[in-house]
Amino acid sequence: MVSRIIPVDPFDLVIFGGTGDLARRKILPGLFRRFCADQMPEEARIIGAARSEMSDDAFREMVAEAIREFGGKRGGDDAELDAFLERVGYETVDATGEGGWKALAGRMREGTTRAFYFSVGPSLFGDLAERLHTHGLATPDSRIVVEKPFGHDLESARALNATLAQHFTEEQIYRIDHYLGKETVQNLMAVRFGNTLFEPLWNAQYVDHIQITVAETVGVGGRGGYYDKSGAMRDMVQNHLMQLLCLIAMEPPARFDPNAVRDEKLKVIRALDPVAPHHISRGQYDAFEDQPSYRDDVENPRSTTESFIALRCHVSNWRWAGTPFYLRTGKKLRARASEIAVVFKDAPHSIFGAEAGRHRNVLSIRLQPNEGMTLGVTIKEPGPGGMRLVDVPLDMTFADALGPDAEEVPDAYERLIMDVMRGNQTLFMRGDEVEAAWAWTDPLIEGWQGRGEVPKPYDVGSSGPDDSLMLMHRDGRKWRDIRT
Ligand code: NAP
Repeated sequence: MVSRIIPVDPFDLVIFGGTGDLARRKILPGLFRRFCADQMPEEARIIGAARSEMSDDAFREMVAEAIREFGGKRGGDDAELDAFLERVGYETVDATGEGGWKALAGRMREGTTRAFYFSVGPSLFGDLAERLHTHGLATPDSRIVVEKPFGHDLESARALNATLAQHFTEEQIYRIDHYLGKETVQNLMAVRFGNTLFEPLWNAQYVDHIQITVAETVGVGGRGGYYDKSGAMRDMVQNHLMQLLCLIAMEPPARFDPNAVRDEKLKVIRALDPVAPHHISRGQYDAFEDQPSYRDDVENPRSTTESFIALRCHVSNWRWAGTPFYLRTGKKLRARASEIAVVFKDAPHSIFGAEAGRHRNVLSIRLQPNEGMTLGVTIKEPGPGGMRLVDVPLDMTFADALGPDAEEVPDAYERLIMDVMRGNQTLFMRGDEVEAAWAWTDPLIEGWQGRGEVPKPYDVGSSGPDDSLMLMHRDGRKWRDIRT
């Protein structure tokens, strides 16, 4: 199977924060891989911009190092790297001052697609939008790519939307949620809406419940200061898990176009019920051997921010009434594993009797590691000795199914950046979606803050605090194992 590369038109891409962590780890190596895959046209230009004084050559050297370190297996050879670097330049620009903007404007070409990637701290998003406008860089068809977090709550997200809207139309704004760029996540739509097999069963009549788990093994790392003001709810649930929930729960859009898809996702968010306090479990990782606790990591001994959250929510509409969605995400857990599991109901009647045991079909959609899907089906255990049933996986690991071409599957960032250049907003969040997600999230956070609740400690390498297990147990259900 050979992946089809659709080249994009020539573009000027300015990466504000071009010297930062995200640019070095994801954006620049991703662009290089697209270049090696012949998707980037000859005339494409990439301009890094940040406050640091740096020549074009010094920036190119930094880019080359980043690509060598983070480029992965699909990086090209030295000749390709040199050819890529010829398209790269740098301008010293201060988002909060006037320095560098004129020179940056001088580098932009007329009549070429323009995109400005805001890979800087969120407090600078408004400044960048403002200055792009005042310095005349924001042409009517230029695009801005806005990183997360998009706001801290509904009020700040509204304010940011309003600021961006002063200078850019909604069609020019690309709010990134890199989960939407993952191959499996898009495959979720292909599986649901490209087959007749699943959709008739995709409702409360046949689905017992849905579990969405995004588990990390890392702690807060160097992001302690930011994370402690945010927590798992804001950092993960409001955006990534919410987007996954939307794709699972949404009605089939009439067309696979940006507004049709996003209209349906928005309806899901608006149909979410408030979550009762006893359906939320929050945790903080404890110290373990020589590893620091969450409170040590964030240098705040009294922190009440959660590094883990699990909750049960409901989408109140005809399709999903009565089917709970269990969401769970946290740091320093047992394994780095992200999965959506659609757990179907038991067969209404077992002709094999009670001794055959309880068997359920589960469609598991793995986001990482080993992106792929598995459908658990019940079959007869081979061999003599009566009718014993076992559950076996029908496995579709993309790496196996696609063979060597699996390596050609772009990672989330490279795909999304190419979508920006094509002007395709389907995999980006619309302003009203982000606001609706905050409108659902805010009261939950205010609720536990108002009640003065403190997160429960959990062991490093565990599956979270005990009461997160109880959340399922009380309903007669069980979380799936967190494993790679
Ligand atoms: P970072 O490593 O701290 O880099 C910040 C960048 O912004 C640097 O290039 C910095 O360079 C530049 N900068 C700071 N102040 C500036 C100013 N006034 N004018 C112009 N440039 C300025 O941050 P990051 O981790 O790359 O994150 C960037 C954004 O992506 C943040 O919004 C973050 O939340 C988001 N994000 C990051 C990750 C990740 O894995 N890193 C993941 C998801 C989202 P100078 O100091 O030289 O100006």
